[in-house]
Amino acid sequence: MSIPVIAAGDIFPDTTRIDRGHLVVGGCDMADLAARYGTPLYVFDEASILARARGYRDALARSYPGASIVCYASKAYSAPWILSLLADEGVGLDVVSAGELFVGAKVDFPRERIYFHGNNKGEDELRLALAERVGRIVVDNLDEVRLLARLAVERGVRPAVLLRVSPSVDAHTHAHLTTGNLDTKFGLGIESGAAAEGVGAILQEPALDLRGYHAHIGSQIHEIEPYEAEVERLFAFAKEMREERGVALREISPGGGFGVRYTTEDPAVKAADMIGRVGAVVAAAAKKFGFDRLPEVSIEPGRSMVANTAIALYRVGSVKRIPGGRTYVAVDGGMADNIRPTAYGAKYSAVLAGRVDDTRTTDVAIAGKYCETGDILIQHIELPLPRVGELIAVPTAGAYHLSMASNYNMALRPAVVVVANGRSRLVRRRETFEDLLAPEIAGEAVKA
Ligand SMILES: *Cc1c(COP(=O)(O)O)cnc(C)c1O
Repeated sequence: MSIPVIAAGDIFPDTTRIDRGHLVVGGCDMADLAARYGTPLYVFDEASILARARGYRDALARSYPGASIVCYASKAYSAPWILSLLADEGVGLDVVSAGELFVGAKVDFPRERIYFHGNNKGEDELRLALAERVGRIVVDNLDEVRLLARLAVERGVRPAVLLRVSPSVDAHTHAHLTTGNLDTKFGLGIESGAAAEGVGAILQEPALDLRGYHAHIGSQIHEIEPYEAEVERLFAFAKEMREERGVALREISPGGGFGVRYTTEDPAVKAADMIGRVGAVVAAAAKKFGFDRLPEVSIEPGRSMVANTAIALYRVGSVKRIPGGRTYVAVDGGMADNIRPTAYGAKYSAVLAGRVDDTRTTDVAIAGKYCETGDILIQHIELPLPRVGELIAVPTAGAYHLSMASNYNMALRPAVVVVANGRSRLVRRRETFEDLLAPEIAGEAVKA
C-alpha cells in the first residue's frame, strides 16, 4: 500500500499539511503534541468536525425540501467536548444506552434533539429516557412497546416514538436485495408482517405517539442503491399503514452508515454527497407514494461525522526484521485503543509523522504491543523504514476506536487532545494505574 494521499478531508483531517517533512494538523506539529502529552495520543481536528456537521446539514437541507435534522450517532465516539460542539451546530444526538444518554444530559444537550435507540433497552434506561424527556424513542420490538407504554402511563407522559423496521435490504452487496437479513436482531421485519403488527401494538397504546418509521441498514456503505431500496420499502410500508390503519407519516429516518475512506483502496465517495443523494431519494419517494405533506427526515451519521477528523499517534519501540518474513514495527498502542483491525480485519493507512515526505519506502507491518498475535494494526504498508523513537500517525482514527477501547493487558486508555488554530487542548487525560483499580473493592461476604 502506498503512502496515503494527504488531501483535505479525505483520509486525513481537513487542516492537515506537511511542514519540512512533519505532519501538522490544526496548526500543531505532531512531534510537539507527542512530546507534550505522550503517546499513544488521539488528536482531533476541531475544524474538520465543524465542517462535517455543517456540510451534512447543508447537504440534506439542500436536497430535501421538508424539515430535516442530522443526528450524530454517538456510539462512534462520545465525550462531553464533542457533544457540546455538535449541540451548538444544531445537530441532533443518537444514543443507544443510558450511558450515552448520561453524557448528553451532562452537557445539557437539547433533549428534544436526542433519539434513543437500542434493541433491548432496559426498564431503567427507558425510565431515564422518559425522565430526561428525550425527543424520540425508537421502539425496536413488541416487548418494548408494552414496557414503554406502562412506564409512560406511570409517569403521565406521552413520548414520541418511531418504530424501527427491518426493510430486508442487504447493504453490503451492491444493489442486491435479499430476504436473507430478515434474520436480524434489530427492528421488526416489513416483509414478515412483524412491522405492521408493531404499528398495531403501538396504536393500541394511547400513551405512545407514533410519528413514523426508522431503519438503519448497515455501516461503511459506499453506494446509493441500498439506500434507494431501503427508502422505497419504508415509504411503501408507510403508505400501507396510512391506508390500512390511518397512520399519518410525520417523520422518517433511513439511518446512517455513510462510508468513509481508511485507505486509498476505499472508494473516494464523500459522505456529504451521499447524504445529499439520500435526501433527494427520500423527497422523490415521498412524491411517488403520495405524501404531499413531507415528513421530517432524520439521518444518523456516526462514523462519517468523526472518523477522518482524528489521528492516532504512536511511538515506535522496536523494529524487528524477520529473515524471510516481514519487518515488524512495534508501537506503544494497538488493539486496546483500536480493536478494528483485530476484530474486523479493518485496513488502515499510516505515515511517519516526522518524515512524511521521505520517499525511500519499504514494506512493514505495524504491530501493537498487546499479548495477542492478532494485535497488528496494519499488516502491510509502505513506509520509510521507521527508527526506534519515531512517531507513526494513523489517520481515520475518530470513529469506533476510543468508544471501543479497553484496558486489556491493564493498558491505560490514551489521552485525547483537540487542535485548532495552532493550539491544543487536553480534553481527556491519560488514564492512571489508580484509574484501573478505582472500581475494585474488598467486598464483604453476604448470604447468597
Ligand atoms: C450505529 C448506528 C448509526 C451510525 O452508523 P455509522 O455507520 O457509524 O454511520 C446510525 N443509526 C443507528 C440506529 C445506529 O445503530
